[in-house]
Amino acid sequence: MSGIVNSSRRRAGAPDLNEDDLRTEVGVWAKVCEDIPEDKLDASYFRALRDRNVRTLLQPGELFRAWTRIRDESRADRQSPIKVDLEGECCYYCNATGYQIIVRKTVEGSWNEYARPCACAAAPGWGRTERPMMGSKYKRDGYGRFHEIDA
Ligand SMILES: [Zn+2]
Repeated sequence: MSGIVNSSRRRAGAPDLNEDDLRTEVGVWAKVCEDIPEDKLDASYFRALRDRNVRTLLQPGELFRAWTRIRDESRADRQSPIKVDLEGECCYYCNATGYQIIVRKTVEGSWNEYARPCACAAAPGWGRTERPMMGSKYKRDGYGRFHEIDA
């Protein structure tokens, strides 16, 4: 971590810290970035540099956010979305709109309809869910809406 702190300071043209200050600074970075696995620190650092275009001093929060981006992207890769051929067959869950329509009974007994990002390729990348609402708790109607069934 001290390597990253030193390197980022030099890049920003900031003076090197004395031993005490460096230890304090590294302590702050280590705390903010404690969830970053040791072997991902360098990758997170380079990612943080790549995603910024200012030469001001890099902040530990930027390193942490760079790590969350790396992590989220690798997750997204692993959970490849349900394959949908948008030219031909439509997604069973969202009709290739990207949003699954869920119909749910409210506490008052009326029906509430809401749209939820689907898990298929038609869903927006930022909101794509891990899986559609499915299984025996839901029944699909003729309009492609999914009704939540009372347990
Ligand atoms: Zn879908």
